[in-house]
Amino acid sequence: MIYQRSSQLFAEAEKVIPGGVNSPVRAFKYVGGTPIFVKSAKGAYLFDEDSNRLIDYINSWGPMILGHAYEPVVNAVVEKAKLGTSFGMPTEIETKIAELAVSMVPNIDKIRFVNSGTEACMSAIRLARGFTGRDKIIKFAGCYHGHSDSFLIQAGSGAITFGSPNSPGVTQGTAKDTLLANYNDIQNIKELLEANKNEIAAIIIEPVAGNMGCIPPKEGFLESLRELCTANGTLLIFDEVMTGFRLAKGGAQELYNIKADIVCFGKVIGGGLPVGAFAARNEIMNYLAPLGPVYQAGTLSGNPLAMAAGLAMLTELNHDTEIFKRLEQKTAYLEVGIRKVLTLNNIDFTINRVGSMISVHFDKDEVYDFNTSKNGDNQRFKDFFHGLVKEGVYIAPSAYETWFITDALTYEDLDFTIEAIDRVSKTLS
Ligand code: PMP
Repeated sequence: MIYQRSSQLFAEAEKVIPGGVNSPVRAFKYVGGTPIFVKSAKGAYLFDEDSNRLIDYINSWGPMILGHAYEPVVNAVVEKAKLGTSFGMPTEIETKIAELAVSMVPNIDKIRFVNSGTEACMSAIRLARGFTGRDKIIKFAGCYHGHSDSFLIQAGSGAITFGSPNSPGVTQGTAKDTLLANYNDIQNIKELLEANKNEIAAIIIEPVAGNMGCIPPKEGFLESLRELCTANGTLLIFDEVMTGFRLAKGGAQELYNIKADIVCFGKVIGGGLPVGAFAARNEIMNYLAPLGPVYQAGTLSGNPLAMAAGLAMLTELNHDTEIFKRLEQKTAYLEVGIRKVLTLNNIDFTINRVGSMISVHFDKDEVYDFNTSKNGDNQRFKDFFHGLVKEGVYIAPSAYETWFITDALTYEDLDFTIEAIDRVSKTLS
């Protein structure tokens, strides 16, 4: 594969954009080499500026669950754009998507739309603090809830990839209100709640972690978390930016049958346009301005194009009763295939998977929290990544990310990928 034009475009971008990118992981700093510039995408494939075709396992980091340039979504956006692109006034489509989201997700009465997952989580925390009258929150090491100050404490995703889980620029004052716990460690949570009695506004969690690779909750962990939150007057916030409308219609709440107090969304809910949302029961959501005292706003929130894309996407997911089963089957097929070829090629690995979220860790021991996620063989990951790109398969350019499977993938694509992984594993030292 040739990357002449991508290299040229990257060099030009570096002159006017810090690091040449608008989000750090895209820069390939972790894996090395030149970032690939995309020209277009359709279904399961990316087409880059050098006319290479890549099977896409990232899918814009989650949103494109039905594949790229999915026609009902594209058509909805195009038709809406002809009517004007932003008004800063209420539109009917906002109520339509809100009604649909509320009908699909358990335990929520009202939802507010914002422009990103970061905004959703940031606003959810403010709401939790306003509602409980408490300042402190607990987050889990290795979980990523966007780049707002309260969450850049032992954060996952690009923050780990670049070795700065605690970013400069976050004040001590902010950091002291974010307490850290180990994922899947309920004893740790008990201790923190005990040591900070009546002070914890919320515990925020990725119900399936996806930002230190994919890490499922251990059996009973989410249930215990729910019980402890209830007992301590602490709100349980599910950050379903990755899991929402992906693991099931009702996300992780439905899959694990756990009631969260506030739920955050992003990615799939916007069908590939910039959308986030947070939702809860009436009692909590009515605390939000203009009904209540907790302020939150946005010039482009509920933007008609974004709402049109989101509504088209959720409508498809709501009508297609087999979609989540198909995604599960395709991802399970991929998992079995990868396990087989890595085993045959004597590579140490652990695969974690929940539904259509999957990651391959180059370490033979169980990966269940931030510390164990860091034990993987980084060099091997980098070689694996570049080997796959040469084969025409694109996975995230970091070992700390989850792969997102799209329904647009055919079994031929999956076989192609498994065969590519087989060839690449033979080259790994
Ligand atoms: N929460 C989770 C679980 C995420 O994975 C992400 C982004 N990957 C975010 C929040 C932040 O979303 P955004 O990038 O849209 O701000």
